[in-house]
Amino acid sequence: MKFATTPPLESVRILPKLALIIPLYNEEEILAKSINLFCTKLDRLKQKNIISLDSFIVFIDDGSLDSSFDILQNHINSNNIVALALSKNVGHQNALLAGLQYVIDKCDCAISIDCDLQQDIDKIDEFLVYFKNGCDIVFGVRKDRFSDGLFKKWSSNLFYKMMEILGVKIIKNHADYRLLSNKALGFLGEFKEVNLFLRGIVLEIGLKSAIVYFDVKKRELGRSKYSLAKMMSLATNGITSFSIAPLRIIFVLGFLIALASGIFGIYGICIAIFSDSAVPGWASVVVPVYFLGGIEMLSLGIIGEYLGKVYKESKARPRYLIDKILISNKIYFQKNGAKLKSKNLK
Ligand code: UDP
Ligand code: MG
Repeated sequence: MKFATTPPLESVRILPKLALIIPLYNEEEILAKSINLFCTKLDRLKQKNIISLDSFIVFIDDGSLDSSFDILQNHINSNNIVALALSKNVGHQNALLAGLQYVIDKCDCAISIDCDLQQDIDKIDEFLVYFKNGCDIVFGVRKDRFSDGLFKKWSSNLFYKMMEILGVKIIKNHADYRLLSNKALGFLGEFKEVNLFLRGIVLEIGLKSAIVYFDVKKRELGRSKYSLAKMMSLATNGITSFSIAPLRIIFVLGFLIALASGIFGIYGICIAIFSDSAVPGWASVVVPVYFLGGIEMLSLGIIGEYLGKVYKESKARPRYLIDKILISNKIYFQKNGAKLKSKNLK
């Protein structure tokens, strides 16, 4: 980690250079409208002298299979918009990380927001007020979950309950609408894990933070890109990244079952010695066998989940690869398959 030799320039807090980070995947239905609205918002913030004139937007195309990238190409005609095209779909969290890492040292603060306009973009002003007052992290927390379907509401409540029981520190209903100062972005870069759960990791950074509550609208166009599999993977990743409690639960469960079967065995021996009652029946043999079989499979599954994680971390594969970068009508292609370094571009 590098340390600054001079005190931080607080002027960056007065007229900060903002980077808006917007990941997207197959968003052709809404993208043109989103680009327009985000650009208008950025211009307004500049006109009101809330952010500096060189503030910019970064769209991250997370390996879209539809015409999203063409739409970006047709609409990017200003110096203040950049589009990164990842080599394949790596998921929302990694796409977000690609954008956040791209803007380190290129801005004073970055705000990440979804591309589908569900999150109230006018709250950006409030995020910036907190930044100007010295906060390095501002968490956007949704006021309610009215816009979600029944299943999403139920499953997210279950997820937060589990995280609470397992003792994982997490802010309920905080999605990835948040502000990070350049300092927080640098700190985030120190977390090298491949399986990234940004909502948890950001809390590990520390620094002065605040919360902004916002409304979530229903999606106007397109469908949610978070499939059930993607949601499950995010939840499992969240739990296994921050808690080893499931492994402890297995240990305690195993111990309790062993203890219970020991007591049951002693009871059986006593019955055999001191009474002449009938031989134990089918149920008393078969039920524990199935029960223990189930517990064993579950335990192996949980251990496997952690082991798989260690396996992935030990390979340390790149979390994303940037294939192309679009900056004001110029397109930069990746050469040699090596990870593209942002310093080559400017
Ligand atoms: N997204 C992404 N990669 C993915 C899935 C989603 O970049 O693999 C983007 C998506 O385009 C959107 C944001 O992540 O901008 C949130 O996704 P979505 O709106 O589908 O999630 P929901 O609001 O339904 O939870
Ligand atoms: Mg959405």
